[in-house]
Amino acid sequence: MLYISTRGDQTPKHFCDILLEGLAPDGGLYLPAHYPQVDDATLSRWRSVYRDQGYADLAFEVLSLYIDDIPAADLKALCHKTYTVAVFGTPEIVPLRPLEDGIWLEALSNGPTLAFKDMAMQLLGNLFEYELARRGEVLNILGATSGDTGSAAEYAMRGKKGVRVFMTSPQGRMSPFQQAQMFSLMDDNIFNIAVDGVFDDCQDMVKAVSNDLDFKRKYRIGTVNSINWARLLAQVVYYFAGYFQATQNNSQKVSFTVPSGNFGNVCAGHVARMMGLPIARLVVATNENDVLDEFFKTGVYRVRASADTHETSSPSMDISKASNFERFVFDLLGRDGARIKSLFGDALGRVGFFDLEAHPAFALAARRYGFDSGKSTHADRLATIKDIWARHSMMIDTHTADGVKVARDHVQAGVPMIVLETALPIKFAETIVEATGREPDRPARFIGIEALPKRVVPMPADVQAIKTFIVGQCA
Ligand SMILES: *Cc1c(COP(=O)(O)O)cnc(C)c1O
Repeated sequence: MLYISTRGDQTPKHFCDILLEGLAPDGGLYLPAHYPQVDDATLSRWRSVYRDQGYADLAFEVLSLYIDDIPAADLKALCHKTYTVAVFGTPEIVPLRPLEDGIWLEALSNGPTLAFKDMAMQLLGNLFEYELARRGEVLNILGATSGDTGSAAEYAMRGKKGVRVFMTSPQGRMSPFQQAQMFSLMDDNIFNIAVDGVFDDCQDMVKAVSNDLDFKRKYRIGTVNSINWARLLAQVVYYFAGYFQATQNNSQKVSFTVPSGNFGNVCAGHVARMMGLPIARLVVATNENDVLDEFFKTGVYRVRASADTHETSSPSMDISKASNFERFVFDLLGRDGARIKSLFGDALGRVGFFDLEAHPAFALAARRYGFDSGKSTHADRLATIKDIWARHSMMIDTHTADGVKVARDHVQAGVPMIVLETALPIKFAETIVEATGREPDRPARFIGIEALPKRVVPMPADVQAIKTFIVGQCA
């Protein structure tokens, strides 16, 4: 399988070339040159693989269609090392449970940091270690986080040979639980940096360092953000696993509702659908930051100024633009790289929006690609969390609640609707208490983490300061 850029660069690359790279050199995102097709016989075989051998073997089947530069035995071993009961808590890895009237919850958040980002990041950690060892290289991962991404990255990379993580976060802005999760890590290769500023200051520092190409090359700076194709690919697997659990045979269809921010998770659903997984609808659920809902309703993609981004109680969906959205629009517009370059590279930068309403492809977003969308607010989250608790004695987190709210508006008779559970409620306890008057359950391994010693470096929002720090650690 070869990979191409969404902005027209056709230089063919293999999986491991793009694994350690972020954006393509032309500023685009990588996608496979085509989507491998999964026919009925293969789908049936994969159904048995998941049932009889488990998630790791299913992951190997999916991944091997996209990765031809890692020997099969090694790839299989990496999948087995990643998707274990010890790390993800159950033999199913992503167990499905019924919620109500045709709605199911697919649990993606039983990994080390209790959010679905572990599903991809744990694999990425193992792939990085493998590929860096094979090349005899090292990588310094620099990132900015407001919570879930940073902790998932640190838990995936801790103790990995050849990798250091420098993770910036806005001082005092993460929940106490999230701070404890990250700052209690004592691994030598993990560096938490609390920046005197807001999330955008962190992101600006990371961008400034990455844009200094000499520094980037000399100190081998890399990223693990959600535009990394390997992360997206890992996420494709659980759409298949969800489908197999909700259906008995391949003539059945299912729909998914996906709590969305950067469009990474639901884009993996799009890829699964393009491969032939029988998905009826992919419903994009947003919070008050409704850039994506607006697009699917109107055809207008209008990025927000970061000052206009709402701080909500589902903070991992608080985005001003959806960094993976370019991938879907590339497919929507017939993979026209020049057009994507003019929309994303030019129009967005110049006027901050583009409008596809009049474009014939826009109607296809719903018809051919099965997309739909909805929005949920703080009041909706509280009402949904409270209602699910009262009726089913089940607690769901705030992001999942956005999904359930929107899913309820989109259920179709006879089509199972699977809501992706993207985090556990304990990560956002304050809102859960506001909704239900009760503290959510805490997995045993997290009892008392707020009291653990913390290891974090305070830093001003200053590019030179972080460069100096990185240089010091690489000496
Ligand atoms: C990251 C995240 C999301 C958003 O996922 P995208 O792939 O950015 O659309 C939703 N919920 C939780 C809990 C997250 O951590």
